[in-house]
Order: sequence, then structure tokens, then C-alpha cells
Amino acid sequence: MNLILFGPPGAGKGTQANNLVRHYDLFKVSTGDLLRSEINNNTQLGEKIQKTIESGSFVSDHIINDLIENTLKNKKYANRFIFDGYPRTLNQARNLNILLKKFDQKISCVLCLNVKKDTIKKRILGRQICKKCGLIFNEFFNPSTKKNHSCETELLERRSDDSNHVIESRYESYIKQTLPIINFYKEMNLMYEINAEHEIGVIFKEIQGIISSIKG
Ligand code: AMP
Repeated sequence: MNLILFGPPGAGKGTQANNLVRHYDLFKVSTGDLLRSEINNNTQLGEKIQKTIESGSFVSDHIINDLIENTLKNKKYANRFIFDGYPRTLNQARNLNILLKKFDQKISCVLCLNVKKDTIKKRILGRQICKKCGLIFNEFFNPSTKKNHSCETELLERRSDDSNHVIESRYESYIKQTLPIINFYKEMNLMYEINAEHEIGVIFKEIQGIISSIKG
């Protein structure tokens, strides 16, 4: 089973991807995480990527396509992928189809997390990520506690692009470049729309229902 988690920035894709990894032994591919690790390597490419991310625009399709091809090559994760934040443009979606064919795989379903812009802002401005385990929390709605997180709270950090002014351009990039993908996957009969205004656990139950239905 290969899944795509689709939705605007701050919809909760990363959080649900982490839940899916835990419950279904899947492997998360977040292009955002891959790009941030390139930034942490302090390469020239990383510097360029950082500027793009902090402006709220998209990193070029050829960089993303190369990252994905390298990931798909790894047979260990075949048919266990959850794509989080990818594809984000029609070109990426078309390229993913080509790559999947090449590696003899296919997408099982696209889970579209629908949320209002107001909710997105609140989720992004409260987001905290543990730099050790990668779990995602929200200062207001889902704080890190001793029960849900075993690392120290000092390890929680905010993303540099999770600021009020970058949110606007990230949202605009989503509307202009990512939304057209919805029809692409609807035509392939792979699209499942989910009301992601609900609590994390409620959304996850809905996702589990969809997965059971496609597994038959
Ligand atoms: P994310 O962690 O998914 O919110 O992504 C953070 C930022 O990384 C985005 O705002 C983009 O600048 C960049 N990015 C992540 N994934 C992609 C992608 N598939 N295509 C282009 N840019 C991306």
C-alpha cells in the first residue's frame, strides 16, 4: 500500500503520517523533511533551498523529482510509502506516475485533509517539532506531555517558515500550484476527502476506515 497525504500547509499531514507509520509499518516520505535535512548539511544547494522555503515558494520540480527517485529506488520500502507534502505540483504528480511505473508500484489512495484557512494559521503558529524523535505537537491543541512524548521538552523547536508572513505565501502557493492536482487524482478514482477540522484521533479513525475499505 502506498498513500498520499494531501492538503494545505498546517492541515495535519505530518501528524497523520506519523500515526500511519506507527499503526501500519509504513515509511514516511516528507519532501519538506528531506529538504530540511539538505539545509542542515550546510551545502550550497541547502542554502538555496532555505531561501526558497523561507519565502513560502516551492523548491524546483527537478530537485524534488530527484529526491523522490532516490527514495523510490530503495526496495526495502517498496509498497510501504506515505507521501507527505508531495506531490505539490501537477508536474510532480505526473512524474510520480512515471516513477511508480518504473519501480512497479502504484498509489492505493490519496487522503485529502480539508481545513479552513483560520484553522491552518492556528495550527502552524502553535506547531512544535521534536528534533530528536520527529513527533509534531501543538502548543495550544496538542501539547507535548510526559504521556505522549518521551523526549525532553527542550528538544521541541519551531520551524523558521512557521511565521505569520510566510503562512500567506505558502497558502497562496498551495492554492495556485497544488490544488489543481485534486482533479488529476479524482480522474484516477484515488481521491478521498476528509474533514480535517476534527481532533487528531477522530481524523485518524476516518483514515483507518478508508484504509480498511480499500484493502477490502
Ligand atoms: P512542508 O514541510 O511540507 O510544509 O514543506 C516546507 C517547505 O518545503 C514548503 O513550503 C516548500 O517551500 C518546500 N517543499 C516541500 N515539499 C515540496 C514539494 N513537493 N515541492 C516543492 N517544494 C516543496
